[in-house]
Amino acid sequence: MNNPKIVILGAGYGGLTTVAKLQNKLGVNDAQITLVNKNDYHYESTWLHEAAAGTLHHDRSRVKIADLIDSAKVNFVQDTVTAIKPDEKKVELQDGNALDYDYLVVALGFEAATFGIPGLLENAFTIGSINKARQIREHIDYQFATYNNEPETKQERLNIVVGGGGFTGIEFVGELANRVPQLCEEYDIDRNKVRIIVVEAMDSIMPGFDPELIEYAMNSLEARGVEFKLGAFLKEVRAEGITVEQNDEKEDIPTMTTVWAAGVRANHLVEESALEDNRGKVEVTPELRAPSHEDVFVVGDCALVWNKEIDRPYPPTAQIAMQEAEVCAHNLIALVKGGELEHFEFINRGTVCSLGHNDAMGSIFGGKKIFGWTASVMKKVIDNRALFKIGGVGLLLKKGKFNFFS
Ligand code: FAD
Repeated sequence: MNNPKIVILGAGYGGLTTVAKLQNKLGVNDAQITLVNKNDYHYESTWLHEAAAGTLHHDRSRVKIADLIDSAKVNFVQDTVTAIKPDEKKVELQDGNALDYDYLVVALGFEAATFGIPGLLENAFTIGSINKARQIREHIDYQFATYNNEPETKQERLNIVVGGGGFTGIEFVGELANRVPQLCEEYDIDRNKVRIIVVEAMDSIMPGFDPELIEYAMNSLEARGVEFKLGAFLKEVRAEGITVEQNDEKEDIPTMTTVWAAGVRANHLVEESALEDNRGKVEVTPELRAPSHEDVFVVGDCALVWNKEIDRPYPPTAQIAMQEAEVCAHNLIALVKGGELEHFEFINRGTVCSLGHNDAMGSIFGGKKIFGWTASVMKKVIDNRALFKIGGVGLLLKKGKFNFFS
């Protein structure tokens, strides 16, 4: 195929890593590359919990796409994709236009999964984009600012409930545990009046993590005033309270701030398209193609890749999204210029979970456990590596995390 049209949907970890490699390896006349994203910026999804807690300014987590792409080789379209039509080889955009393609890369990321919990969609916040993260920060600030300015103080303003003790929930709570004392000082509030409550349906936080790492995380967070309700199910979310069920007993907790961090699903456009899906994701071939449409590649949170060792899918992470994107780009280049297609194999480089400033825990290099400051430095190194992969040294120097001692 001569000068094929390659359209990439989504400028997150998967989409941008694909573009970075394509623009590096393909010449102007090799292919017509188009990148579509709803915003004119890329954001680091893995930093959003910091923006939501207010410990990192949201502008640190985003970067203009124009600064990351080679505009001579990549045409950037800022628009929202409204439909993927693989049988017609086109995608539809909100502005009414459609783009046709020879090869498509679907990298549209995740959305919150609400599991039908009454009131959750209407009353809980989710950490899913820059604007959602900003909304959470502003909302929490407002609750603290208002607390002492009402005739009768309302405890529900100072109770913060986080639904889900998985990776996102725990990283967010770690930041909150640092932010709350600052807010208390700013707004003359006794720290002991503020409750940060994690509601987790499993009997443990961070399921799948090593028990020693889990214990470390719980001790660190409890020491900073976080409460855990384990084996507890969120039954209802209201504007001024929640109901949880634990050991067959129901409890109402007054709160004006419920942040839901307990589940993600693939972008709904995948399920709505004619791509064959498995619970909303495309179970990709080893070359990362959609089995029903071999001109469509799917990477990141929209793709399902099976971990044969434990007979379960790999969890959605930035790490796997970027590794998939490397293989996807290689395969596109092979299709354009000729060459062998590669099969995707996940290389586990470890996982580190932040617990706030200068604290973290995780395992690296084939299972070596790390804790505290060492783990927190490693977390920053991982964040910096992702920046380097997407935008090279320039982006790393502009947005990198080098505050290893504060
Ligand atoms: P994304 O990075 O989400 O990118 C999707 C892009 O598509 C976005 O730019 C979005 O704006 C755009 N988009 C969406 N819909 C449309 C549309 N209709 N039209 C146009 N554009 C659209 N993973 C880790 O590996 N390590 C971590 O420490 C970690 N921490 C996390 C912390 C938090 C708070 C969160 C929320 C997630 C974390 N993750 C972590 C998971 C990780 O962020 C995701 O797995 C990763 O972002 C998936 O990459 P992606 O390219 O599939 O999607």
